[in-house]
This record gives sequence, structure tokens and C-alpha cells, in this order.
Amino acid sequence: MLCTHSPQCPEADDPHCCSAHVAYDRSDQGWCRLCNGVILFDDGLYLAPDGHVETVPLLSA
Ligand SMILES: [Zn+2]
Repeated sequence: MLCTHSPQCPEADDPHCCSAHVAYDRSDQGWCRLCNGVILFDDGLYLAPDGHVETVPLLSA
């Protein structure tokens, strides 16, 4: 995938992956796709590009 943001968004396997920019916002349906391919749901879960679902880590930064 191609990230044109600066600084670059974290990769999908990065602990901070959910802080990537929103590439496609469907918050009206409860989800959005981030620049790094992560699908972020509004119930605190995200779907990684490799197909596994994880809880969004709560990061203080
Ligand atoms: Zn990006």
C-alpha cells in the first residue's frame, strides 16, 4: 500500500497501527478503513489486513 502522509502512518503490524490516518470513513456504519489497511470498528475492535481481529490498544500518546 502507498502511504503519502508525513510522517508515515504506522504499519498494520505496528502497536500504534490504529493511529494511522483514516482513508475511508464509514463511521455512519460504525467502521472506517485506515491508511495502513486496518479496519477500525467503533466498538473498540479492529480487523488487521491479515484477517485477525484484535482489541484496539488504549494508548496514552
Ligand atoms: Zn498514511
